[in-house]
Amino acid sequence: MKSASKVAPTIAVIFGGTGDLAKRKLIPAFFNLFLDGQLPETFALIGLGRQSSDSNGYKNTLKQALAKFSRSGSPTEEAWSIFQHSLYYLPSDINDPASFQQLAEKINEIEKAWGSRSNRLFYLSVAPDFIEPITVNLSKTGIASNPEKDRIVVEKPFGSNLETARELNQLLTRTFEESQIYRIDHYLGKETVQNILAFRFANALFEPLWNRNFIEYVQISVAEEVGVEDRGGYYEGSGALRDMIQNHLLQLMCMVAMEPPVTFEAEEIRNRKVDVLHAVRRFSKEDVGKYAVRGQYGPGWMKSKQVPGYREEKGVNPSSQTETYAAVKFRLDNWRWQGVPFYLRTGKRMQEKSSSITVQFRPVAHLTFPSTMSENILPNRLIINLQPQMDIRLRFMAKKTGLEMALTPAEMVFDFNGVKEGGPSPEAYETLLLDAMQGDATLFMRSDQVETAWEVITPILETWESRPSLEFPNYATGMWGPENAEALIARDGHTWTVTMPPA
Ligand code: NAD
Repeated sequence: MKSASKVAPTIAVIFGGTGDLAKRKLIPAFFNLFLDGQLPETFALIGLGRQSSDSNGYKNTLKQALAKFSRSGSPTEEAWSIFQHSLYYLPSDINDPASFQQLAEKINEIEKAWGSRSNRLFYLSVAPDFIEPITVNLSKTGIASNPEKDRIVVEKPFGSNLETARELNQLLTRTFEESQIYRIDHYLGKETVQNILAFRFANALFEPLWNRNFIEYVQISVAEEVGVEDRGGYYEGSGALRDMIQNHLLQLMCMVAMEPPVTFEAEEIRNRKVDVLHAVRRFSKEDVGKYAVRGQYGPGWMKSKQVPGYREEKGVNPSSQTETYAAVKFRLDNWRWQGVPFYLRTGKRMQEKSSSITVQFRPVAHLTFPSTMSENILPNRLIINLQPQMDIRLRFMAKKTGLEMALTPAEMVFDFNGVKEGGPSPEAYETLLLDAMQGDATLFMRSDQVETAWEVITPILETWESRPSLEFPNYATGMWGPENAEALIARDGHTWTVTMPPA
């Protein structure tokens, strides 16, 4: 409801419009874009789902979902009365071509009233098995056949291994141009993640230091407090490596390690990112034992509450071999990063929810101060806290105040709240949906990015699948992961960074 939108007239179609993702993320994102004046006046959203409801019933469900999940809280009557005019619901069966005929008729009816052919955004918020029937039926009805105007958004997981990801890419590119396909990785839409590009490429200060001459190692850590909750059935076929490392963490690594792009064009940025994945040294079976660690949480205590171990969760095999924790040491074979390890770790039921990137600089070249003063000298360290804490911290050495020449580590902190435009930051899905409607694919995954990321982790996946762990469960709920993961990094003389919230 603010300034004029730059989005062309659009019809957004959500397959799975009654599902969890639609209610928790997509509808609140569209609604907040509307409040921010980012949606065009000629905008319609058609939700499709199995449930037999009508548009009024659907609107009620969405209003309740907004009250529960939107960052802007319950919609005001004024805002809702305008927004709800854009909403439609079609009960449907994805496997039935008749549902697509009805969808085509609805789209034609809306566009006829608008008097023009709009852009069409088809969001596939459904289980991966439905991608094929949706693609085939969209192709038959021809409603997504304009490469300039029609776009398809595909949710994760994108395949479950290299082969299935390739098949999925082939399936999609038989019907759509690559430029129409938006593979979403919602991590890339987060404010703090996008800021990595600003930090690196809009400042002259760090780029000259951003290489093997000055940086000793990089850590990327995404720790979750939650377990698998009610997604045990899904998670059993996935695990931490597929669910987090293959996509989110490798993408973060690409943003930290990529060469400076020449322009801010989507293809240029995606080319520089995929270069990083090409540079990752591939693992032999022996390497997997040396450089990758898996874990599975056992029962324990979380915030004074007793919680079950992974094997006792609903939908999980009592002797499950699925990892809920993964730590991997990656090495990049290129000029910039030769010899600099990148340690990536992620886990569920860890002590604290925190996502951060640590860039550890090398120690000073020569110690000027006498040994009594030098013992406290710590190398510079940059920590980019992504969530829930959102800041950038640079550690440097300073003189303690007082008559003595004594040294102490100090921190410079940039807090994201200091550069807020006002009100809460947009959610990742808002940024990504707006980009998709505007045809900007910078923050979406190209087919080769997805496939190369699968290629990188395939040896680890295959080795772990062929050698069951005899140790699972090997970390208690509320810990920072298995002991082997500490050993993985301790062997190189380092430790995992634990970022504590500011006092
Ligand atoms: P969900 O089970 O809550 O919803 C599934 C939707 O698909 C429902 O709207 C249902 O009506 C519809 N559907 C199922 N069978 C159908 C059929 N035969 N015909 C028509 N519609 C049918 O699933 P979800 O949690 O919303 O997840 C959707 C997709 O998004 C999945 O691929 C999931 O992996 C991905 N995803 C979900 C989340 C999340 O937070 N829920 C996060 C990231 C990715």
